[in-house]
Amino acid sequence: MFSFHEARQKVIEVVGKLAAQSRLSAEATSLGRALGRVLASEVVADRDYPPFDRSTRDGFAVRSEDVAPPEVPATLEVIGEVKAGDDLRGLAKLPMNGQCVQVMTGAAVPLQADAVVMNEHVRISDAYSPARLAQPGALVGGVIEVIQSATRGQNIVPRGSEARAGQKLLSAGQRLGYAELALAAQVGAAKVDVFARPRVALLSTGDEVVAVDAQPGPFEIRNSNCISLGAQVELAGGEPVVLGNARDRVEELRRMIEEGLKADILVLSGGVSMGKYDLVETVLRELGTEFHFDAVAIRPGRPAVFGACRGKPVFGLPGNPVSTMVTFELLVVPAIDLLSGTQVRPLALFRAKLAKPVKQKAALTHFLPACLTWESGEAAVEELLWQGSGDIVALAGANCFLVVRESRLEMAAGDWCEVLPRRGMM
Ligand code: AMP
Ligand code: MG
Repeated sequence: MFSFHEARQKVIEVVGKLAAQSRLSAEATSLGRALGRVLASEVVADRDYPPFDRSTRDGFAVRSEDVAPPEVPATLEVIGEVKAGDDLRGLAKLPMNGQCVQVMTGAAVPLQADAVVMNEHVRISDAYSPARLAQPGALVGGVIEVIQSATRGQNIVPRGSEARAGQKLLSAGQRLGYAELALAAQVGAAKVDVFARPRVALLSTGDEVVAVDAQPGPFEIRNSNCISLGAQVELAGGEPVVLGNARDRVEELRRMIEEGLKADILVLSGGVSMGKYDLVETVLRELGTEFHFDAVAIRPGRPAVFGACRGKPVFGLPGNPVSTMVTFELLVVPAIDLLSGTQVRPLALFRAKLAKPVKQKAALTHFLPACLTWESGEAAVEELLWQGSGDIVALAGANCFLVVRESRLEMAAGDWCEVLPRRGMM
């Protein structure tokens, strides 16, 4: 039986090949609607960034030689003032010998200057009251005293040091987060080309499953998996196509699976265990599915199956809600990444200290609903009480899964352990 890592690798290998064979379609999207989408063409710098030598401080633009160590304190005449957005035309030709220009944060620094001395390192004569200083140009024609020496380049970001005009800033295949969107906005790419989101068909199965807005009979349950799967698909960057529920009948399953195979990925829940009415594998096989695994050494989620049918990845996830959620995160998310035209995001496993001991019996890797807190500079994680893989009540109070590896089923309080965040919750 595959470990979860091996199962993931298998998904990545198989879907990677399928993705290489399919042509992803692209569409133009405004930046306001592009969060989480994957770029289909590159974004380049329209000009140098910064476009001018930019001051990072409120202060005075000087020639560093005028305020080198032997010169300070140095008295300099103020010959101009530049605030953010001002152009330098009037100042460009003035000589700057023993002189300076008052500049604000974000303002262009005159070319004659090579350093900015911040306000905190300058003394101004008593004649300048705070009220007078608030006036535009109040210091021009007066003098200041620089009390700390400055070095070349100090408090200046040189023109073009972040990016050169024409330089590639974002590549096709990059996912757009807030920083990438800001970068596209900065260079004027108001619309960007993005790949179409992969359509993920969601089909739950089970005679006991009724629609969320239906009144269940005493032994029936509402279809929560279609809701959680839809949400997980959206969080992962796919487009959910909710097909609803198929009863445990071969005919009905076949019809709905065929419908699901029109999407880019098919995800089923339920019907993959060993029971008499677990028919999903049988029907998938009949339709020509090539299976790559039919179990993973994890709990919850052990009966998960994965294969390819008619060039489409197909996942049969166990129906117990927490199993469905865990196996989706481990196995389906990388398939969505690959069919989105981007690289697989690494599984965000990280270390935390166990708040309480844990002990598991089954020789599997366990994913237990848990709560991670961050106190006194250290991540601490605590397993929550739960009733097993049907217990959504417990999971809804968890922000992560505590991962207990098969190789170390018992751990003491204070031990380092692994944690998998619940996507979007921390
Ligand atoms: P199965 O994997 O088909 O054996 O299903 C296991 C259990 O998961 C069932 O007995 C139900 O309690 C639960 N279950 C199955 N499908 C769903 C669903 N769509 N929504 C919520 N719970 C489900
Ligand atoms: Mg079932």
